[in-house]
Amino acid sequence: MSAKHSTSGSLFMVVAPSGAGKSTLVNALLGQEPAIKLSISYTTRPPRPGEEHGKQYYFTSPEDFLKRQAEGEFLEWAEVHGNYYGTSRLMIADQIGSGTDVLLEIDWQGAQQVRKQFPNAIGIFILPPSIAALEERLKKRGQDEPHVITRRILAAGGEIAHSPEFEYVIINHEFAEALSEMTAIVKAARCRFPQQAARNTFLFNQLGIHASV
Ligand code: 5GP
Repeated sequence: MSAKHSTSGSLFMVVAPSGAGKSTLVNALLGQEPAIKLSISYTTRPPRPGEEHGKQYYFTSPEDFLKRQAEGEFLEWAEVHGNYYGTSRLMIADQIGSGTDVLLEIDWQGAQQVRKQFPNAIGIFILPPSIAALEERLKKRGQDEPHVITRRILAAGGEIAHSPEFEYVIINHEFAEALSEMTAIVKAARCRFPQQAARNTFLFNQLGIHASV
């Protein structure tokens, strides 16, 4: 899709190598900022213990995924660690067009695709404080098979190499600090002129601000 969307809500893309603590940070952020809508992706990866269909992901088969992909249902999609992952197009444009902030937890390949369609999307890359810390988190989490963990550790360097493509980088050394940095990014994004103008049309009109947004 080549059309570019203008947005009054903010579109956040949060990307990290596996084990950087991305989901924990995102969940804490959403707890503080409940107005942000998390996009639920489709995946062909099997659910981890405790994961529910429709909550963390829509879990599906490769056949179903590829059918949806062929029908143009995905805003972006990618193969990551041997499974397919994709963002449904359905909610995204509507939500941010109507002023809702949306957060995508995706990989760097997906982020590149989204940026083509939403040039104002805000990319946040989360780095671990060290590769050792990343390995430790993956092992401690204990939710993946050993060969899956090894595969993810081996992939981390290649993913981290894409961090320069992102506007913001958070080093998840100390959780509270990382969360406060993430919150600061969200708040700053909302203060961008077009987003403020779209949310506060009455005030902006009253104040005689007529810059095109
Ligand atoms: P996990 O299997 O650990 O939940 O996710 C593996 C990787 O796939 C993570 O980097 C995650 O951000 C990414 N991912 C999850 N959903 C999507 C998606 O819809 N699109 C893309 N491109 N990547 C995704």
